[in-house]
Amino acid sequence: MLTSQAQAPPLSLFRLAKDRWTEPFWQAAAEERLVAARCGRCKTFRHPPGPYCANCLSQQIEYVNLSGKGEIYSFTVVRRTALPGLAEIVPYVPAVITLADAPGIRMVGAIVGCDVSEVRIGRPVVVSWVHGKDASSFPHWRLETP
Ligand SMILES: [Zn+2]
Repeated sequence: MLTSQAQAPPLSLFRLAKDRWTEPFWQAAAEERLVAARCGRCKTFRHPPGPYCANCLSQQIEYVNLSGKGEIYSFTVVRRTALPGLAEIVPYVPAVITLADAPGIRMVGAIVGCDVSEVRIGRPVVVSWVHGKDASSFPHWRLETP
């Protein structure tokens, strides 16, 4: 089916790689809360979460609730795929998102729920949750309506 609506990629493409640093992110996602890891000492955000702060090398880490608002930093529109099973979900729009209340980090996610021609660098977006079968949830992004 030909469409210009940005589709959500199938969740079968995602494989959670949880560890002690990323588990709090995925736990919050399951509750539809967007969080980001931040250094417990110097308060520098770090994403993806990891054992050391890139700024001060501290291993202290805290997870901060975010508003779920951001802005499109970069994106691409995928219109063709060589992978079987994905022809039904193009076009999809993987994007890099800057976060309104977590300076210095960006998250990757798909833009969904709009015509691909509406997607522009700098447009405000809001997080949108897509739920997997195993109680996992993944952040996608919708254009914020003025
Ligand atoms: Zn630090």
